[in-house]
Amino acid sequence: MSKPEPVGANWAGTYQYQARGVISVSSKEELSELVSEGRQVRALGSRHSFNDVADTLGLLVELGALKGQPIIDQERRRVTVPSSMTYGAVGEFLESRGWALHNLGSLPHISGAGACATGTHGSGTTNQSLAAAVCGIELITGR
Ligand SMILES: Cc1cc2nc3c(=O)[nH]c(=O)nc-3n(C[C@H](O)[C@H](O)[C@H](O)COP(=O)(O)OP(=O)(O)OC[C@H]3O[C@@H](n4cnc5c(N)ncnc54)[C@H](O)[C@@H]3O)c2cc1C
Repeated sequence: MSKPEPVGANWAGTYQYQARGVISVSSKEELSELVSEGRQVRALGSRHSFNDVADTLGLLVELGALKGQPIIDQERRRVTVPSSMTYGAVGEFLESRGWALHNLGSLPHISGAGACATGTHGSGTTNQSLAAAVCGIELITGR
């Protein structure tokens, strides 16, 4: 687990995070340990939100180091992806294997978890938001 670093601003540079620092974890065990310590923590995505929705007075946690290859379940037409993986990366992975998501947001840089947590929409007035494609999540709690 990294030491807390200054957080800085959101992607647009229009919002300065108030959190005490940002930590990067490299395994689920580290994340679980951090949550178990009882400190106030919040996951940080790709910082594309324009307001304080991703902020905390405690610590922000970056999950980008929790990498993993997406796993496609062809029979059930599902893909399991790391929460911080961007739609751009997921799209490329799926496209190279002949698959695609039903809809995409306007930015390839946003993370799946961040987009779903904020109700990001894609295109088309009759399509549901991107979160509608989610059929399950892995929740990391304290030990
Ligand atoms: C140029 C631009 C264009 C945009 N266009 C659109 C648009 O067309 N339509 C639209 O709907 N939105 C749009 N947005 C908003 C954008 O889609 C959302 O702000 C973005 O999806 C948030 O994702 P993020 O990865 O940046 O998350 P962050 O902003 O970093 O975090 C957002 C929320 O997700 C939570 N979170 C992040 N990662 C995790 C995780 N691993 N586990 C649990 N919670 C997590 C955070 O705690 C926070 O509550 C736009 C934003 C920009 C900058």
